[in-house]
Amino acid sequence: MENFKIDVDADGIALITFDVPGRSMNTLTGKVMDELPALVERIKTDDAIKGAVITSGKASGFCAGADLGDMASGLLSGSGDLQAAYDAGWKMNGALRALETCGKPVAAAINGLALGGGLEVTLACHYRVVGDSPKIQLGLPEIKVGLFPGGGGTQRLTRLIGVQAAMTAMSSGSSWRPNDAKGAGVVHEVVPAGTEVEAAKAWIKGGGKAVQPWDDKSFKLPGGGPYHPAGIQNFLVGNAMIRKQSYGNYPAVTNLMKAVYEGTQVPMDAALRIETRYFIKTLMTPQAQGMIRSLFLSKQELDKGAVRPAGIPQSDPKKVTVIGAGMMGAGIAYVQALAGIQTILIDRDQDAADKGKAHVEELLKKRLSRGQLTQDKFDALLASVVATTDYDQIKGSDLVIEAVFENREIKADVTKRAEAQLEAGAVFGSNTSTLPITGLAEASVRPEDFIGIHFFSPVDKMMLVEIILGEKTGPAAIAKALDYIIKIKKTPIVVNDGRGFYTSRCFGTYVAEGLAMLEEGYAPALIDNLGRMTGMPRGPLEMHDDVALDLSVKIAKQTAEDLGDAYVPIEGHEIVRKMVEDLGRYGRKNGKGFYDYDTKPKKLWSGLSDLATVTINDSTPELIEDQKRRLLYRQAVEVAKCWEEGVIDDPREADVGAILAWGFAPWTGGPITMIDQIGLKAFVEQADVYADRYGDRFRVPQLLRDMAAKGETFYGKFAGVKAAA
Ligand code: NAD
Repeated sequence: MENFKIDVDADGIALITFDVPGRSMNTLTGKVMDELPALVERIKTDDAIKGAVITSGKASGFCAGADLGDMASGLLSGSGDLQAAYDAGWKMNGALRALETCGKPVAAAINGLALGGGLEVTLACHYRVVGDSPKIQLGLPEIKVGLFPGGGGTQRLTRLIGVQAAMTAMSSGSSWRPNDAKGAGVVHEVVPAGTEVEAAKAWIKGGGKAVQPWDDKSFKLPGGGPYHPAGIQNFLVGNAMIRKQSYGNYPAVTNLMKAVYEGTQVPMDAALRIETRYFIKTLMTPQAQGMIRSLFLSKQELDKGAVRPAGIPQSDPKKVTVIGAGMMGAGIAYVQALAGIQTILIDRDQDAADKGKAHVEELLKKRLSRGQLTQDKFDALLASVVATTDYDQIKGSDLVIEAVFENREIKADVTKRAEAQLEAGAVFGSNTSTLPITGLAEASVRPEDFIGIHFFSPVDKMMLVEIILGEKTGPAAIAKALDYIIKIKKTPIVVNDGRGFYTSRCFGTYVAEGLAMLEEGYAPALIDNLGRMTGMPRGPLEMHDDVALDLSVKIAKQTAEDLGDAYVPIEGHEIVRKMVEDLGRYGRKNGKGFYDYDTKPKKLWSGLSDLATVTINDSTPELIEDQKRRLLYRQAVEVAKCWEEGVIDDPREADVGAILAWGFAPWTGGPITMIDQIGLKAFVEQADVYADRYGDRFRVPQLLRDMAAKGETFYGKFAGVKAAA
């Protein structure tokens, strides 16, 4: 066997070391699945083997789960052969069932993270020992890519910890740290890191039982199953909760619940077959296909620098200056310090710079308290951030990022002063959220090294960074900016310059469409509910409150100034202008926006009805579906416009960027996948219906009409085009 090494010791205990060759992390590749049945057969039939311990040969972890690349290569090619898919899905379930019924005690020595299929392998062992390390996580995160556990997890975890706890874990995809896993009943023992194998062998030698709890005649499902007075509550309440979270957008969540409901009523062998059926059914849905592609495969490619210009040597930024120690600057300083980059944090006065560093300290303290940092590491990281007002300290920086006030003159001044300290080849990045990069680069004496590096708030939590190219930005600056983003473990997309760039521009249309609906007479509560029902994280009015209403008014003024006669105010803007300028309602930041924030939960502001009268009282299912689609289409049309204007040119960046930056309904796989899956022709026809009804903002660009006429798709036409350029 290529992936498993077997060493039988003097006591007859086989140590099975899982170690996929040529990879830094174990995953359940097609080859591993092929070898699994033979491994189990050997344990079962080799008389020299009295018991077995499964561990990992990787320093990085036990196993990260199924190899989605392998899985998707068959899946995305769309072979559609159900029986073959079922047989492939059953391979793992069949092998793991054989393992737990092999008649010999099997223990898992979990010496690193075990996620998804990785944890499922251990759940099929009779005993689980895990090392006490802050790096170890155990969980079933499949739901995050539109799937659910298909290696027995839905049945074994449920039987171990009960329906409620198991459903909560599997429907959220959350993970446990070792001690929490022990507390939850997922593992049996937590031991000092490095002694897992020893402890697992000790359990076998101590007479460990070779029977799973569910194969014991006296087994009772913890908390009760569907025909138990308490157990049924989990399904009644659980169904409602799942519906509330997913709005029925995720077949994986519904099928997970079905697999658990049906599976807990039958013995394990039948339960596993039920799980495999629902798993394959889920795998074949467009939602799973879109999510696996965007949220896993494409994201991983971007994380590895898929769009990095070719032929430029790799750089490794060691010292980076951040100018402006406010909310964004301090957040940037934190993430880069964490990545081991020496950080100079500059502000106008020492107090402001110190305040920024204090924020870094606060975030580091959180990690310290969670055991993710040692005191020594904490001290070293904090010391690597220097708060100052002294521009001389910039010297030797590989990169400078400015995050000062959103003001052209201030930014120009900072650019000049910083560039005076920079050596040739160092890059200057602006974190502006609205000002076009080409214009800002006019203040630069080296515009080929000037670039937009747009972080999102809060910087420590948001995974995406949007890199924006000015007209003169050169390939070396792009490569260096990408090397930096990859080093700080964020996902980069590279877009071309334009008003609002890619993410803010498209996100803005969601918020603006909510305003248009308000002006048309839709009830504000309905508008926000519709937004959430589409799968967006929040409704358009709530999100507008979050980003601040006064910011919208400011951006509108700036845009009007810049565009002159060409400026067209967005629908409903007058409502927001009045709220800000006449009534001092700035949004969540001053507790007053579309909602009042002095109560929990927040309440819709009663005065809104004076500014926008509700005239539409219809809420038929047809209207709901139509208006949900309207909100998604409006954003997707803007993405298509960005594409035609050259702001964005890679389907992966468009999809991953949309989901990570502004929460575009993840179940769609992103706006480009959504357009492809609807079909260009149908998409264009429906957008035209909306354009006739609501206005030209829904009119699709010519590119889409041409593609529709030729029966093309974005992924078919453009996949790999940017990489090859
Ligand atoms: P902020 O007001 O919290 O911080 C700005 C900081 O810059 C302040 O500490 C200020 O003292 C400092 N500053 C101002 N002039 C300076 C100068 N001449 N030299 C040195 N420091 C100076 O603002 P923020 O929210 O952190 O935003 C900063 C930048 O990031 C803006 O360009 C903004 O558009 C952009 N941005 C903000 C967000 C967001 O959600 N807040 C998101 C993305 C990008």
